[in-house]
Formats: sequence, C-alpha cells, structure tokens
Amino acid sequence: MLSYCVANETMIAENLKAVTQRISRSCEKSGRPADGVKLVCVAKEASLAEIEEVLALGVKDIGENRVQDALVKYRAIGGRAIWHLIGHLQTNKVRDAVGISSLIHSVDSLRLAEAIDREAKRAGKVQDILIQVNTSGQVSKFGISQDEVRLFFEKAVLYPNISILGLMTMAPEVEDPEETRPCFRSLRELRDELQNYQPSTMNYELSMGMTNDFEIAIEEGSTMVRIGRAIFDS
Ligand SMILES: *Cc1c(COP(=O)(O)O)cnc(C)c1O
Repeated sequence: MLSYCVANETMIAENLKAVTQRISRSCEKSGRPADGVKLVCVAKEASLAEIEEVLALGVKDIGENRVQDALVKYRAIGGRAIWHLIGHLQTNKVRDAVGISSLIHSVDSLRLAEAIDREAKRAGKVQDILIQVNTSGQVSKFGISQDEVRLFFEKAVLYPNISILGLMTMAPEVEDPEETRPCFRSLRELRDELQNYQPSTMNYELSMGMTNDFEIAIEEGSTMVRIGRAIFDS
C-alpha cells in the first residue's frame, strides 16, 4: 500500500525534525553548543526500511540493544551507519558485538570488560566503551553502583584493547521526567570526578537521555542521547 508507506515516511521525517529541534532548544536553554549532543537513533523496534530512511535523512549513529538484531541489520547496512550497542551484553555475545560496534555503552562488569578486551585484541582493534552506571539504585537496572565506578575505572583502564570514553546511565521510567534529574546529575558528577582524577585530553562522554527524559538529560550535561520511540513511533 503505497499511501501507507508514504505517510509513514513523512512521519519519521517529521519526528526526526521535531526531536532535533527539541535537542537544539535544550542545548540553547542550558547554554550549550547545539553540536555538543550526539543523537543515537535507537532502532531496536525499527525495520530495515525505517533505518534506511533515517540514514537518508542524515542520521549516522544507530543504536541496538540486542547483538542478534544488530547483526542482522549490520549485514544489510554495514559501514553506512555507526553502530552503538546500548543493551545488556552477555559474554558469549562479545565476539559479535566487537565485530560490529563502534561504541559499546553497556559495560557493567570487569568480566565483560575483560572479554571485550580479549575479543578486541583478537580482532586487531581497540574497542571504545562506556561504563554503565546504576544511578537509580533500582535493583532491576543494569549497571555498576556509583561507589564502584572509580575502582572499576582503575582496573578497566589497564586493559590495552579497550578505551573508556565515558559513562552511560538509564533513568527509571517515571511519570514526571523531572524526577530523572538526580540520576543524570549524579552521572555528571561522577564524570567530573573521573575527569579530575584521570586527566585526559578528551572530555568523557555522558550517554544519557531517552524519549521520555532527553531534555532533562541534556540540561544535566548529556553528550549522547539514545532516542527510539520519539523517532519511530507513529
Ligand atoms: C530502548 C532503549 C533506548 C531508547 O528508548 P526510547 O524510549 O525508545 O527512546 C535507550 N537506551 C536503551 C539502553 C534502550 O534499551
């Protein structure tokens, strides 16, 4: 049904434009340059055709939360996108994850960091990663606890084939997005501590903010927002 397809296309283009505008507005509101926030388009619910559409609209960064899904899409799209693995990663999927991911956002154990280091070495690459932090204290959320971040960093930084680019967190789903602010603020404070403690020429990234809460996350310093539904949902 052509009319359906056309309507759908327009919808994604409109959604993307609206999201981009909201990102710029939040940057402006918090006195940050508009190019200080990268949009990672989360395609876990999207079809290949929908991903092709956002790529055609200028999106480069695609996020997937399952390695199996990422592989299928990678086979079709390959290097035309920059692939982000954002979901929980099991050690038995690390080889595939390293094979296709530009950035793995969800490193939450030393065992996983070690496995990534090993597979990256085998693949002849240095794998960029983020440390996932549980800033909400919810037991169901993945991520290391805030007081473990420093120790984790001290150990993980020694692996030669991983490069820690920053921190990632997920805020709990709440009715009032304002309630997510303390989580994002905590992650920023942890990042600032890290930045002081391990001075680096680069600024550590903050991967935080999703459909429900990305504006708050940007106000709190997010450098990467991971947005799915606001772009792909009709
Ligand atoms: C699904 C997902 C997102 C995107 O969530 P939306 O609410 O669709 O924007 C971001 N980060 C992670 C880790 C996810 O699993």
